[in-house]
Amino acid sequence: MRFHVLTLFPEMVESVLGESILGRAAQKGLVEFSAVDIRRFTENRHNRVDDYTYGGGAGMLMQAQPVFDCCSFVQEGILSRQGRPARVLYMSPLGPVFDQRMAQELAKEEELILLCGHYEGIDARALEEIGAEEVSIGDFVLTGGELPAMMIIDAVSRMIPGVLGNTESADTDSFMNGLLEYPQYSRPAVWHGREVPPVLLSGDHARVEEWRFEQSLAITKERRPDLYDRFVQENPEIMEARQKRLDRQKRLEERRRRRELKQQGGQ
Ligand code: SAH
Repeated sequence: MRFHVLTLFPEMVESVLGESILGRAAQKGLVEFSAVDIRRFTENRHNRVDDYTYGGGAGMLMQAQPVFDCCSFVQEGILSRQGRPARVLYMSPLGPVFDQRMAQELAKEEELILLCGHYEGIDARALEEIGAEEVSIGDFVLTGGELPAMMIIDAVSRMIPGVLGNTESADTDSFMNGLLEYPQYSRPAVWHGREVPPVLLSGDHARVEEWRFEQSLAITKERRPDLYDRFVQENPEIMEARQKRLDRQKRLEERRRRRELKQQGGQ
């Protein structure tokens, strides 16, 4: 998958995306990052890309011309490769807030353009002409779209098979199934007097899975009731199977207790 980041600060993007897991993924050819300098496209003699806003107000605005021309240039390349233009995401506090679902959906694209604003943002006409989709990373304002673009690229890239060493590790992450992740433990089995939950040492795969699912449910219910409600609503069969399992376990437990009582009574 190819990510094109349109920015006034290409070095900022390149340095981050060249490191660690994403850097390795790029080396393996699973993803490709290119940071395109919007300033290269300005027709202004002094290389300017921003100007005052009409109507007054503090701050400068990125002008339509360099942004639009930069985007058109990148789209031309994409058009020749995949026969259609790529989606353009404009990093903006006005957009819907990015989440795991969007990451999964975007991971299906072959090419993606991420447009980073700076200063007060970008002339609205350029955004309309480009047909940009706005995406926010949360209800706060940053100085530029570079960090949001890198966050989105990170989240989308790790959905691409092969990017994480073990494809399973993405499947069990928080949000992948709509729930937060269960707590995890590594060696040693006792640390600072704290034990790893015994079920995890039992080797009983089914019981481990059950335990993890119950932990995920409980944590999500406590911390993110919004996500919990959505999960329950969207997964009636899973919740029904769980209820049956819990009922069965309760019946077995009651039977065991009655048997114990009877044995005690007989003694
Ligand atoms: N005047 C704008 C803020 C501009 S901040 C407003 O009030 O909405 C400068 C740039 O940072 C924006 O163009 C955008 O690309 C980026 N940015 C800031 N906050 C962001 C957020 N929460 N999500 C995504 N991008 C953001």
